[in-house]
Amino acid sequence: MPIATTDPTTGEVLRTYDEMPPDRIDAAIAAADRGFAALRRTPVAQRARWLTAAADLLDAERDDIARVMTTEMGKTYKAARAEAAKCAAACRFYADNAERFLADEPADAAAVGATRAVVRYQPIGPVLAVMPWNFPLWQVIRFAAPALTAGNTGLLKHASNVPQTALWLGELFGRAGFPEGAFTTLLVGSSAVERILTDPRVRAATLTGSEPAGRSIAAIAGRELKKTVLELGGSDPFVVMPSADPDRAAEVATTARCQNNGQSCIAAKRFVVHTDVFDAFTERFVARMAALRVGDPMDERTDVGPLASERGRDEVAAQVRDAVERGARVLCGGEVPDRPGWWYPPTVVTGLTPGMRMWGEEVFGPVAGLYRVSSYDEAVEVANGTSFGLGANAWTSDPEEQERFATDLDAGNVFVNGMTTSYPELPFGGVKNSGYGRELSTLGMREFCNVKTVWVGAGGPSAGAGAHAE
Ligand code: NAP
Repeated sequence: MPIATTDPTTGEVLRTYDEMPPDRIDAAIAAADRGFAALRRTPVAQRARWLTAAADLLDAERDDIARVMTTEMGKTYKAARAEAAKCAAACRFYADNAERFLADEPADAAAVGATRAVVRYQPIGPVLAVMPWNFPLWQVIRFAAPALTAGNTGLLKHASNVPQTALWLGELFGRAGFPEGAFTTLLVGSSAVERILTDPRVRAATLTGSEPAGRSIAAIAGRELKKTVLELGGSDPFVVMPSADPDRAAEVATTARCQNNGQSCIAAKRFVVHTDVFDAFTERFVARMAALRVGDPMDERTDVGPLASERGRDEVAAQVRDAVERGARVLCGGEVPDRPGWWYPPTVVTGLTPGMRMWGEEVFGPVAGLYRVSSYDEAVEVANGTSFGLGANAWTSDPEEQERFATDLDAGNVFVNGMTTSYPELPFGGVKNSGYGRELSTLGMREFCNVKTVWVGAGGPSAGAGAHAE
């Protein structure tokens, strides 16, 4: 894939970039290694101050970087500005809490025959971050803010269609005060990932992206015995039960499906609706989906912009076509408009059956699949019936049912009477083929820490008494 900025509203290539040659990749890894030596010795409070400075830059340059994101991948300008604001907030969250999250945790010294025992959190070294284009700022910041504040350094291989956002990010942390090599953008294609990850100075990798990319990176990291965090795809269910308010559920369902032009891993994609409320929900949902304004992503009134790539748009169109050819029905949308750029309208499809691509695959565009169910058990069975397990939504006003869904849905998060979103305060990640590991919260910061047990004895003749062989 060429490294280039291409305007998704027209398909016009605006700017192309050369891939970094191997000697520059090597120099960047060496700088990340030197940066790590400096950063690990820097007090956490200082790293936190630099992170606050990064938040200030994100706030000050919000409009500019938002415009770049919109130009490169087509999200609406208002969504891009909100993304930049969320990044600044996440930086402040980690800056404010880093000392607490990274403080030694005392353990029961007497129980382990020590005079003192603690758990200490220390950085592990340069981490390779392979990132997607869909939230080109947020995906990177939610890794970098906790990882750098914990004392690691970062090497970013961003998606090839967002090079200008990637270059801006490559400057951000240095401008905020972090030492040279703390965070570097490598303008490389995916074929360079193996070479970078097998370098002994690179200690771990995090990937947010598709399942095939996850498998490939996990295989390399497995061979090299390196830690990975994988945030992969999702086909999140949005269950609507009879006690739910169909108006409110349809309103939130529309946003949950079409946020980010339908290209979000945690977008609700499968709408699993109880038969008692199916018609009421469907009527409202289809009306709302059909009423969304599709158009220029820079226009404040636009709800849905173009998809980010021609390949992505063609894939969505092919998934809908496949469903229709096998007997599904389109209730709104479903036609690729005859205009330049990579547009696809908000679409609702019903009558899905196993064997259709839409039944088991992730649909990365503003296309909703409807599934009619007639009991709680069937709702859970359909909701859990894909290989993914990222997020899940359940709408019900019955407290007992709320608890049951929270337990029974196989997902990294369950939002009851809401839509999945991410917060710096809460862990984020998936199960099954949606990946493993957690980002955000304390857990996200500790993913790239050496969780070190420190045991201190009295040092006298009986030191070590009570210790056992493993
Ligand atoms: P993608 O093709 O996997 O690309 C993501 C990143 O991985 C890009 O930097 C890409 O580089 C790189 N890459 C692709 N194939 C690779 C390989 N074999 N080895 C090493 N690197 C590779 O994903 P996408 O289609 O752009 O992004 C959408 C996917 O990301 C969806 O499945 C979505 O659900 C998922 N996602 C998950 C989360 C989450 O938090 N769980 C969040 C957002 C998105 P190039 O651009 O150079 O190909």
